[in-house]
This record gives sequence, C-alpha cells and structure tokens, in this order.
Amino acid sequence: MRLSRRRYTKRVLGLLAILVVVTIALAFPALLIHDHIESLIIERLGIEAKNVALTIAHLIEQDIGPYRELSNSGGYGDPQFDEAYYLRTNALLREIKQEIDADFIYTETVVSDSEIAYILDAQDMDSDDFSAFGEREGITENELLAHTQKRALFTEVVDYPDWGKLITGFAPIVDMADGTVVGLVGVDFSLEKVEDMLQKISLVIVLSFVTLIVLISLVMFILILLRIESQKTDYLSGLHSKKFHEFRLNDAIEDALSTKRPLSLMMIDIDRFKAINDTYGHQVGDRALKSIADVLKLNTRVVDICSRYGGDEFVVILPETNLKDAVVAGQRIVDKVQQISQDFDGLAAGELTVSVGIAQWSLNETPESLMEKADKALYQSKETGRNKLTVYRGEKQPG
Ligand code: GH3
Ligand code: MG
Repeated sequence: MRLSRRRYTKRVLGLLAILVVVTIALAFPALLIHDHIESLIIERLGIEAKNVALTIAHLIEQDIGPYRELSNSGGYGDPQFDEAYYLRTNALLREIKQEIDADFIYTETVVSDSEIAYILDAQDMDSDDFSAFGEREGITENELLAHTQKRALFTEVVDYPDWGKLITGFAPIVDMADGTVVGLVGVDFSLEKVEDMLQKISLVIVLSFVTLIVLISLVMFILILLRIESQKTDYLSGLHSKKFHEFRLNDAIEDALSTKRPLSLMMIDIDRFKAINDTYGHQVGDRALKSIADVLKLNTRVVDICSRYGGDEFVVILPETNLKDAVVAGQRIVDKVQQISQDFDGLAAGELTVSVGIAQWSLNETPESLMEKADKALYQSKETGRNKLTVYRGEKQPG
C-alpha cells in the first residue's frame, strides 16, 4: 500500500515537472503571438482611422466652399462664421463617431510649423474635451507630414498628455480647384479599444495554449511511462530487468526500514550453463532461461520481485521475509529447477540445476552490501558443489 502511494506521488510529481517544462517552453511563443496580435489590432485600427478620415475629407471636399470660408473666419461673432454649417457638420461628424465607436473626430488647420487650430469637432459641445473653433495646439510630426505631403496616414500609439494613448488617422482636406491643403481630418481610437479587443482574444489564446500544454504534457508523460515500462521488463525471460530490480530494492529497503519488517534477497545462477549452450545450442539455452524464469514466478509470492540480473543470473527480492522463510522458498526453487530438466528435449534428467545464495538485510545496510552478501553466498554454493542453496551468515562462516 505504502509502496504504491509513493510511486503514485512520484508519478504526480513527474507529471507536474513535465507540465512546468512544457509551460515554460510554450510561454515564449504564446507571448510572441499575443504581441503579434496586439500590433495587428493596432494596425487594423490605424487603417480604419485613416480610411474614415479620408472618407470625411472627401465628403468635405465635395462642397469645399463653406468649409474654406469657415476655416478662414475669425470664429464666433465674425460675420463670416457660418454657424449653421458649423453645427450641422459637427453633428454629422458626431454621428460618424458614434457609428464607428471612435474616440475623437475633428478637423484642423495647420497654422504654422508648430501649431494647429481646431475647426470642427465631433465631441458634445458642452463636454470638457470639446475643442472650440480656433483652439490651438502644438503640431505633431504626423500632422505636419499629412499636411506637407498631402497624404493620408495613421500613427503608432501616441501618448498625449491631454487626450491619453491614441491611434490616429489623418487625411488632408484638399481644395480640388487649386490643389491647396485647406486642413486635416483627424480620427482617433484610444488604446483602451485595443486592450478590450485583446482581452477577448487573449482568453482564446490562453485557453488554446492551456489545452496544448495539457495535451503535450499528457502525451509526453504517457510516452515516458511506456518507455519506463518497456525498460522494466527483460524481453527473453519476461521477468523484471536489472534496472527495475535496482529501483525496487531501494524501495524495499525503505519499506523495511519504516515497517521494521525483515527483508531477504536471493541470487540464483544456472549451473554450468555455458556447457548447456555449447552442447545443446543457444536456442535450448534460451528456453532453459525462460523455464527457470517461470519456476521463479510460480514459486514466489506476488509481492516478491523476480528479475533477470545478468546472462544466467537471477535475483529475487523477498519483502517481509526472514532467512528461515527465504530458505524454504530458495530450496523450493532449487528442487523445481532440477525437476524441469526431464521436460526438456535432449537434456538429461537433473542436468539443468541452479545454485542459490541468500542474505537477510540488516539495519542501515545499503542495497549494494545486501547484493554483495547474497552474491558471496551464491559463490559459496558454486564452490561447494552447485545445485544447492547457501545462506550468508557473516564474513567468516558462510554456509
Ligand atoms: P557456473 O556454474 O559457474 O555459473 O558456470 P556457467 O557456465 O553457468 O558460467 P559462465 O558465467 O561461464 O557462463 C554463463 C553462460 O550463460 C555464458 C553464456 O553463454 C550464457 N548466457 C548468457 N546469456 C544468455 C542468453 O541470453 N541466452 C543463452 N542461451 N545463454 C546465455
Ligand atoms: Mg552460471
């Protein structure tokens, strides 16, 4: 139970680590896409502002006389100031402004290289940001450019102290009769509009990337699990691999430490296997390996971990098992292997045997030391006649 919970925690942590790595890897492209979309929206609004400014300029150019007179007048009180035209055209601009949801629409005259004067304005006349006829302001580079080059243009986002962050389209109002620039039309969209649009798109971007991150992480996690699973098994014997044995031995020792239960280890080596291979061929040798693996599986408990450690060497971890019980299991294996020889074509009865070494884990002992002890006991079995079992009982008196 404890073991599976620990492995479960390891897997969750592994999945989290993959999620973090994939998120970091995808954060940069996500930010790039976000920034790219922001500049696209700004450009799109700029083009729209420029096109509306151009349309209004053309509208005014259709009947340029009254506009020209208005912009040349001295403002309110001047007999040349056509108030009816002024109010009517302001109302028209206001309608357009509402229709396209712009922030400001106005016309202006370039007074000098450094100043403009407002003529028409779509704002409500009683609002604070209404620019009265003739009100002056410093000229910007873009206004100067639109005026001198007689061409429509749109700006980047410009931060005006009085008006906030704006994207503006400018279009020249040209008197077709003499080609002179009478004034400029300005159409402003505020950056807030970009941010509103971006916020809606951001949600889609974030959702797409979160889905992508989760999917990529899951696929990576599954692939890693599959790879780990494939590395866990020895293809010939169907037992666990050496690598997996090492993992499980560490786990088993941690468990023994916390539960204070005994732990034993059994090493098994086929006797004179080289001779069997040489005499009967490798295919028979392989079948013998597989049969011995089956004997191990059939004669151990589900909680025991049987692995193929090397060529003709096997190892079994016996959790919660003392030496006495390990010896019973080990002897059963020695006996069963000897019995299967007779089922093998060509092998003489009792020709296939194994030697076994058993050791019990002692407190604070490392996995390496436990393996070494079982190996020494196995060596002792080989030395003292093979087809037998030896228990490690200390450096001096194995056997
Ligand atoms: P001992 O009793 O001292 O263990 O003698 P041995 O011949 O078993 O020992 P040795 O280590 O000299 O030989 C082990 C043999 O195991 C050598 C090799 O041909 C055989 N072997 C290792 N892996 C495989 C395998 O995957 N298939 C087959 N058929 N034989 C293998
Ligand atoms: Mg051998």
